Amino acid sequence: MRKTIHLVSMTIEEKVIKSCSTIVAAFFPVNRVEIGLSQQRLADNQSAKGDLILRIEKIKVSDISNVFELSFDNEGQVISQQFATKIETLKNQFPLPGKEPSAQIMVKKTVFMFLAGLTGQKNPWGILNGMRPGKLITKMEELGYDNKIQEDILDHYYLVSSEKIKLLQRINTVQKPYREIKEKAKQVAVYLAIPFCPSRCSYCSFPSNPLSAKNKELIPLYLQALEQEIKLTAELMAENGLKADSIYVGGGTPTVLDVKELEELLRTICDRLPRKQEAEFTVEAGRPDTLDLSKLKLLKQYGVNRLSINPQSMQEKTLDRIGRTHGISELIDCYYMARDLSDWTINMDLIIGLPGEGFAEIIDSINKVLELIPDNLTVHAMALKRGSAVWEESYVHNSHYDWAEIEHEIEDRILSAGYYPYYLYRQKNIVGNLENIGYTLPGKVCRYNVATIEEIQNVIGLGAGAASKLPKRNYGHENIYNPQDLKNYLERFREVHAKRKRVLEGAVGIS
Ligand code: SF4
Repeated sequence: MRKTIHLVSMTIEEKVIKSCSTIVAAFFPVNRVEIGLSQQRLADNQSAKGDLILRIEKIKVSDISNVFELSFDNEGQVISQQFATKIETLKNQFPLPGKEPSAQIMVKKTVFMFLAGLTGQKNPWGILNGMRPGKLITKMEELGYDNKIQEDILDHYYLVSSEKIKLLQRINTVQKPYREIKEKAKQVAVYLAIPFCPSRCSYCSFPSNPLSAKNKELIPLYLQALEQEIKLTAELMAENGLKADSIYVGGGTPTVLDVKELEELLRTICDRLPRKQEAEFTVEAGRPDTLDLSKLKLLKQYGVNRLSINPQSMQEKTLDRIGRTHGISELIDCYYMARDLSDWTINMDLIIGLPGEGFAEIIDSINKVLELIPDNLTVHAMALKRGSAVWEESYVHNSHYDWAEIEHEIEDRILSAGYYPYYLYRQKNIVGNLENIGYTLPGKVCRYNVATIEEIQNVIGLGAGAASKLPKRNYGHENIYNPQDLKNYLERFREVHAKRKRVLEGAVGIS
């Protein structure tokens, strides 16, 4: 049964308690986590029927250590434990890299240790629950910390496993030559969204619209609006001396457009958007049932130099189960057709944790994709909205597997095939508490992925649901979002463009 865990404290600030909720959720993925409980019930020390209470209290504060008492009340069965956290000197010599106050880190660490003991689970990311754990390593490098200090801080304060620390350091080393992206303020990454797909995959969390009769009617209107947005943006970029370092057409599945629509879009992008001569130009051709030779030729003709063909799984049964309308042989044919046509970089995505798949199916899919030798291979761990019907079903299925073991096996096979990891990010409610990793063959790193995942470049996002990240006048960045809903987008894209223009023209150091 899905219960609620109430996180309560009478001695610790609510915002600090709130910061612990993702840690609790990682240990109890099937439960809801809420902050607080009514004063009366707290005073009575009673949980609601079927609910659980995790209480955290600071019981002693001194110059040397703080003592916390944690108790877990499972309908009257209470387990409690005390933890003394020493006032550390490491942070005085080496300030912590994140923005989080160390007092909050101490409380989170205590909660983590208590729950790890209570459940016997190992969560290798410790208390790091942000999307981009690699940013801590980058920050520590900027602070001049060597590998040993980085390891000590990640291990001691954030309880990250040594394996994950090594992974982060390895990715950091691979990304170093690409840090120049950050220095070039006049270069931006441009994203364009085509939020349509032939059908909707059951696990999809993207703003994508299946090709129903109603949505088909909207495509021409959508493309007209997007074209307008591209033209307005092109003028703005030219006025501010900006050039695209990378262009990424994603979605959705952009190749769902017919040849005429696709050509019109590519022509507008190429004729209008200022870009570096050698700019990276990616098109997501996500689903092979939307690709044919004429579309591939068009992509080549307009200078696309990176293509994504995404199987997600190499198991026929899984493709059926998740609502895909193509088979494996179609995918392989499509891959070789693209390979024969151009020397572009080809990426393939796989997802682990799809319904009905365990160790055997996942490893078989990895082997089959490696046989194709794509230049980039992205391995996603499935993330679903907590509490949704698909999530519940998937959670029950996935709780039978040892995801750490599966991940080791995947990593071994991919590394032995000559790939190395070059970017990583995490999501909420991700299967097995894992991460998404982009692997590449030597010399094939995708600049767009490094720039956007590591947040080292300004981004202009066009089309429904796209986000722009632009520098603010004095400090930091502003995120500006286009509406996700198609009709809303058609009505409001000019207004969002005006906002982008205001922010961009007001920014210091870019004009
Ligand atoms: S192809 Fe991708 S964007 Fe389209 S429905 Fe499937 S998961 Fe969503």
